Amino acid sequence: METFVTIERALSIARQTPINTPTEQVSLKQAHNRILAEDLQSKVDDPPFDNSAMDGWAVRSEDSTRVEVGLTAAGETASELGSGEAIRIMTGAPIPSGANAIVMVEDGINGKAHTNFIRRRGENLRKGETNLKAGQAMTPAAISLAATMGHETVPVRSKPRVAVISTGDELVTPGHELKDGQIYESNSYGLCALLEKIGCTPIHHNMVEDSIEGLRSALNSVDCDAILTSGGVSMGDFDFVRKLMEEEGNLHFWKVAMRPGGPPLFGTWNGTPLFGLPGNPVSSHLVFTMIVAPWLAPETSLTKEVKVRMKDSVKGAPSKVCLRRIHITSEGDELVGTTHTHQGSGNIHSLVAHNGVTYLPPDTGANAGDTINALWFH
Ligand code: AMP
Ligand code: MG
Repeated sequence: METFVTIERALSIARQTPINTPTEQVSLKQAHNRILAEDLQSKVDDPPFDNSAMDGWAVRSEDSTRVEVGLTAAGETASELGSGEAIRIMTGAPIPSGANAIVMVEDGINGKAHTNFIRRRGENLRKGETNLKAGQAMTPAAISLAATMGHETVPVRSKPRVAVISTGDELVTPGHELKDGQIYESNSYGLCALLEKIGCTPIHHNMVEDSIEGLRSALNSVDCDAILTSGGVSMGDFDFVRKLMEEEGNLHFWKVAMRPGGPPLFGTWNGTPLFGLPGNPVSSHLVFTMIVAPWLAPETSLTKEVKVRMKDSVKGAPSKVCLRRIHITSEGDELVGTTHTHQGSGNIHSLVAHNGVTYLPPDTGANAGDTINALWFH
């Protein structure tokens, strides 16, 4: 068990316990945002035949005057063209044999003949060639490409099923009235949305009170690929996630050198990987963003590293990377950062009012005017 590790070390420890989800075959209609599990080869040349890039006439470039003798539309088979002839042709229609150029409809039948307006068989893709690689996210363009290559279904990784369990005696589900000392439970909702965003299937578990027994039975009851808990991992008397993992689980690290988000833990419970996220809402979101997401979904990133010139000063954190919430906008040819709300790790509004965080090295603040590393949320 390691303690007080860097963000990078936390991720590399977690990666020693990877989630291996099986491959499944899904229809292209279901493939959006899935991760391709195998390389994909084209089943055809693209285009499969020489065809016209323009509406106009298929001609021989050496002819100076032409007579129209027919018409070929997209979807028809190629016809034949003799000397001095022109065949009306539509975009995507096959080039008649004997033709070597296209005259645009705008230019008239005796207009300039363009050889480069013929799209040649296989000029985009070759049959048998790998054009999508394993690990590729199925973006809308990748889906169109898979269809162009003749695939009706694609092999993708199964979505990791991740249980989310909030802990805390003070927590109440929204929709119910708060009594003295209670707050609304918010982390499970945000964490489930983050899981969906990175292509996982969240399993929203009922929240659990602060007791060893309650927590043990909740952890034993879930059937999933990974578990995320929220709360109960710091130094308080009722921080039972940490206690239970120490005594009955298998703990790999506890505490990360980041602020907010200091006390997370990672280990396994009965062989299932478990991230114990801090209860403070900003902390749980940022630990998810910095460590859980890159572990669960290495191909997708929730942030982009950028250089930002600060307009406000921001404090660093002793011995920890400091992730102050900032609003990043472009100004001229540079990005600038400003701060607008209370920065407390309990203030989830700070993650809505801002669109990024500083990435300040340990013991390093920034003054207004300084250019710093920052992470811009997608
Ligand atoms: P803990 O990590 O359990 O000590 O919680 C730290 C702080 O986060 C406390 O103020 C909790 O009330 C708050 N908190 C814990 N869990 C949640 C949750 N699921 N939703 C909102 N706030 C929470
Ligand atoms: Mg708690």
